[in-house]
Amino acid sequence: SDTAPLRRGLPIPQGISKPTFLSAVDELRKLLGTEHVLLNDKEIKNGWYMESPNTHDMMPLFDSEEFIASAVVYPGSVEDVKLIVKWANRHLIPLFPISIGRNLGYGGSAPRVRGSVTIDLGHRMNRILDINADDFTCLVEPGVTFYALHEELVKRGLEDKMWIDTPDLGGGSVIGNTLDRGVGYTPYGDHWACHSGLEVVLPGVGEKGDVSVLRTGMGALGVGGENTWQCFPYGFGPYNDGIFSQSNFGIVTKMGMTLMPNPGGFESFMYTFANESDLAPLIEIIRPLRISNILENVAQLRHGLQTLSVKGLPRTEYFAGSGPMPDDVVRKHLRKTATGECAWVYYGMSYGPAHIRGHKLDVIDKEFHRIPGCRRIDPSTLPADEYFWSRDRIASGTPDLEELKWVNWMPNGSHIAFSPVSPIRGKDAENLFALARKRHAEAGIDLMPAFCVGLREMHLIVEIVFDAEDAEIKRKAEKCLRDMIDDAAKLGYGEYRTHLALMDQVAGTYSWNDNALMKFNNTLKDALDPNGILAPGRCGIWPERYRNRGWEL
Ligand code: ADP
Repeated sequence: SDTAPLRRGLPIPQGISKPTFLSAVDELRKLLGTEHVLLNDKEIKNGWYMESPNTHDMMPLFDSEEFIASAVVYPGSVEDVKLIVKWANRHLIPLFPISIGRNLGYGGSAPRVRGSVTIDLGHRMNRILDINADDFTCLVEPGVTFYALHEELVKRGLEDKMWIDTPDLGGGSVIGNTLDRGVGYTPYGDHWACHSGLEVVLPGVGEKGDVSVLRTGMGALGVGGENTWQCFPYGFGPYNDGIFSQSNFGIVTKMGMTLMPNPGGFESFMYTFANESDLAPLIEIIRPLRISNILENVAQLRHGLQTLSVKGLPRTEYFAGSGPMPDDVVRKHLRKTATGECAWVYYGMSYGPAHIRGHKLDVIDKEFHRIPGCRRIDPSTLPADEYFWSRDRIASGTPDLEELKWVNWMPNGSHIAFSPVSPIRGKDAENLFALARKRHAEAGIDLMPAFCVGLREMHLIVEIVFDAEDAEIKRKAEKCLRDMIDDAAKLGYGEYRTHLALMDQVAGTYSWNDNALMKFNNTLKDALDPNGILAPGRCGIWPERYRNRGWEL
């Protein structure tokens, strides 16, 4: 029922008694208004994607009450955020900022430290502060989703002039996704590279009890940088933005973003490749095409199994056995789809007016056909509900949700990602595919790899889909992920992003020269956040108060 308590009780932050914590929460309520502070003492609930919870990871790899907030606070302004930071420093209570909290596969809205107070920035701070139709830029608050930004362009009649870039799922926050270095599928897909200017509340409190707010780049100018803030990301002096992404050094309250001019036409295309062994030669063909921008957006090469799973039916519709679905079964079912029997499917888009696209598409067609058995699927033969059209919308800047469907593959479907990066080389693709295959076979889990080619690198995204109610499969999934991270590190590959549960391990693989990078991050952490209140443990960075005291996983 609505009033059932949490199984493990209210998750009080470590080192504080319950009465002390509750009186601190009362104090916070007085500061911000009672209705803006919620205690997380009721049974946790998972809504669907658009109603995702802000208290925990709705796709938990461990016990569902492990990574969980003690309370959620809803600031309405930068001043509120400063009050919260001061409060946390007074009581030594860990804070965990989220923008929207739909970071699914990487921890959702959950804090790394059980009992942290989550700052849900997006709930009330959700204004689009500016869309500049001359400069093709915007300035947003944390609660602005890709959907909201897109809708605003439509509302202002600007969609024929400019596009946003959206990731696979459009319900996330522009700021949250960019800070976690997420990607999208237009030529502006590298969100971090496309941002310009941050406003950041720092976690420390000065001697006079003050909290600092800074603006990066041109925003640091005395006038606040309203002039060039979103046009030139660097400003003068050290370029500091980087330390606020995938970190726990500050709370971002504003961010500038560049918008893409409407290219005057676009055309999606899809190719299939017959054999798994086509992977290496195909990647060799993709590299020069991508680097020279003949392939203009993130090149997505997906395993055929994903074309099945994204139809949204449970795995049992296709296969009743246990262990990874055999290849001949995948092929048999693919034969009945519009995609046809294949090992790999390539999704791409060409931009510009028809005469410009035609030239590029001809080059691509000729190059891809160097692989025997390559087939171009004519989009006009594809029904309107085919996944291809979801990719078409995303690559042309229209947010979408189709990608959620493959979560239905398992009951209580959850997913968690293994996301290593490598150069765009056939050998690297083979290495990563082979190690993922081996570890998935050992764990008895279906392998669904997608290679996403940026510009000079590729991300391999392997999503493990699991039943969140099945403790045994969760243990196997965790082992599979940990083995893949270690195997990859030995071969010189590292992850670009990871789930809360795996952050220490992934950070540990970036160990060159006696962990020089983590030592530097620790130095920054201790200087900026001496009380260690902000997102302890995020991306493997622990404040001194927690470091080497058994928190690392
Ligand atoms: P999305 O909903 O777009 O997927 P989230 O809001 O879940 O993104 O953000 C992803 C992660 O980035 C969060 O878990 C948090 O660690 C960090 N983050 C998000 N927003 C902020 C912010 N405004 N300031 C600092 N860190 C943030």
